[in-house]
Amino acid sequence: MDWELPGSHRYVHRMAATPLVPVQLAAGEPAIWCKLEFLNPSGSTKDRIARYILEKAWRQGRLQTGDRVIEASSGSTSIAMALASAQIGVRFLAVMPEGVSNERVLLIRAYGGDVRFTPKADGIRGAIAEVERLGREPGTFLPRQFSNRDNADAHRLTTAREVIDQIPGGRVDAVVSGVGTGGTLVGLYHGFAEVGCRLIAVHAKPVNLYGDADAECCSYSARIPGVADRISEIFREDNLPGLLTLEVNDEVAIATTRQLMRLGFPVGPSSGLNFAAAREAHRRLGRPQAQVVTVFPDRMERYFTTELFQPYLA
Ligand code: PMP
Repeated sequence: MDWELPGSHRYVHRMAATPLVPVQLAAGEPAIWCKLEFLNPSGSTKDRIARYILEKAWRQGRLQTGDRVIEASSGSTSIAMALASAQIGVRFLAVMPEGVSNERVLLIRAYGGDVRFTPKADGIRGAIAEVERLGREPGTFLPRQFSNRDNADAHRLTTAREVIDQIPGGRVDAVVSGVGTGGTLVGLYHGFAEVGCRLIAVHAKPVNLYGDADAECCSYSARIPGVADRISEIFREDNLPGLLTLEVNDEVAIATTRQLMRLGFPVGPSSGLNFAAAREAHRRLGRPQAQVVTVFPDRMERYFTTELFQPYLA
């Protein structure tokens, strides 16, 4: 993706395509094609949406020097927005509920962003309400990742195109992705529409069917950060004809993540979830030569103080 900015920040910044590599957990197992999104500049796939959303806003004059970008996210999106804001030369504020792991707060501050906490009891809704309140002030820009179509467009125009260029023979049988905001899945769905492969959404089991139905955000899995544990209202199957879903036990997702780490893939829990689902999709396709694609969204260092590393505490 070329990134050209006008005015005092005139430069072109090219974001390299992330590698697409075949990954096998053991000899004799089918290889799954994995997109190494943890190799993006700030360590997650969210660099794509941060750049795309901020660049578009800049080009259209909705974001200008001196402005402040404000997002309600405790996760990878805030880290990526902090970096993209620093590169453009605008300020960034992350609003998040108290109690977020320190790794994330430190990364946001290292990229020059500020962090504001909202009461833990108010959850992500409290953070979103605070962002909307702050966003009424002049000189602010709200990316609103949960409701912004540009989130999915970033993946349609970059992630999907890269995979189609990279995969041998240009042939893809199935694409598998977890759902947080749904941006990755919806973008891949539309990006692969002409390829004619299957699209599979992954949910973390146990599925929380009674979760808080909030159109602005998802009900997140307790053990797989960033991934929804129920079918989101915004991205129901009937909006995406032919979309299949798979559920993966969160225990299996975490065990798979630890296996991937030992194979040399320094990934977070949602990568284990995606990989486990991709193997199941490959099994169901029933053809050894089937080419199944999934993504490794972020890096393991974000989870040092979480359950993922619990067994390794002395
Ligand atoms: N994995 C991780 C670690 C995430 O933070 C997210 C996004 N919150 C996802 C997966 C899902 O991506 P998306 O928001 O595009 O559905």
